[in-house]
Amino acid sequence: MPISARGRQLLRLAHEQPGLTRAGAAALLGLSSGAATDLVTALAQAHLLAEEPVAQAGRRGRPTRRLAAHPQGPVVLAGVLAHESWRLVAVELGGAVLDTSAGTHPGTDAAPVLRALRTAGRRLERRFPGRVRGLGLAVPGLVQAGHLLDAPMLDWHALDLRPAAPAGVELTAGNDATLAAVGEARRGAAVGTALAIHLHVDAGLGGAVTVAGRVLAGARGLAGEFGHMPFGDPAVRCACGARGCWGTAVDGSAMARTLGDGPPRDPVAYAHRVLDRAGGGDPAAHRALRDAGTALGRGIAGLVTGLDPDLVTLGGLGTDLLHHVPGEVRAAFTAGLMSFRRDAPPEIAAAALGVDGPLVGAAEEVWSRVLGDPTDGGSPLG
Ligand SMILES: [Zn+2]
Repeated sequence: MPISARGRQLLRLAHEQPGLTRAGAAALLGLSSGAATDLVTALAQAHLLAEEPVAQAGRRGRPTRRLAAHPQGPVVLAGVLAHESWRLVAVELGGAVLDTSAGTHPGTDAAPVLRALRTAGRRLERRFPGRVRGLGLAVPGLVQAGHLLDAPMLDWHALDLRPAAPAGVELTAGNDATLAAVGEARRGAAVGTALAIHLHVDAGLGGAVTVAGRVLAGARGLAGEFGHMPFGDPAVRCACGARGCWGTAVDGSAMARTLGDGPPRDPVAYAHRVLDRAGGGDPAAHRALRDAGTALGRGIAGLVTGLDPDLVTLGGLGTDLLHHVPGEVRAAFTAGLMSFRRDAPPEIAAAALGVDGPLVGAAEEVWSRVLGDPTDGGSPLG
């Protein structure tokens, strides 16, 4: 049965605002009570939406009902492929996780990791027969054409990710920092922002701009390589081939230079050791954090000047720097702003979703496809 445009709007609301009541949805959509009831009934018959009673303390009369995922309704699969581990979850309408699989890998050969994801996906297809509507996969590297991964840290190049999806399940792959930005904008700290910037520091720095919850992807889908903007020291050559990349000034490799150590093999593990040492009162380690925090704040000022966001969220080591050296981050940020912005600069906040950001964003990208874009008429449900 085709789903009406109103029906899709209602499903999107139920997904975006878990716990929304039928009356609340009717008000948001400008529907009469009778029309809302008919719409919910039709969506329930199509196994897309259900209702659950809500106890209302201290109120008489009919109990109100809350919109909820249908027990036989669609689910999306969302996965994260990280440097030494993977995770795959099944997510129902509204964002609740129904099932999780996870595993580790040595990071050498890609084929067994993709096979493990596919096997886990098949298990979820068996658990939710006929209900899986797509796979979103967050990966640590550049994604081109929706399925080709270039991950220099893993030495995986032009890797076709499609074997990670069970047969017949459409893959939507994206960079992990980009998908973390989507997660923050849809279910995290940046919900409701007009324009938000999310920055993730691990080995280097990545991120994305979201406009009303949608990623500003660029003409070829490659926007957001903020870590390779020349906000760093021009004397430092980055692995990308450019000089002065911002990412080289804020991560573990930057801390190693401050401390007089050689380039660390694992910059993220190195940065965590520096954080531990600074926490234990080591002044040299604390100086390395201050330098990285200053470089982070200065670059954020550049992005804020260029893009005029409501909010900047920080993930990964960015959250740690904001926690350990907030004064350095904020002082460098303010010093880099034009004076007219200094009275009311956008907030810099820790990401709300933490390590779950990329997974949440991967699921949300698939749900966007399943539920249809608000500006177009069609969706795979109809
Ligand atoms: Zn670079």
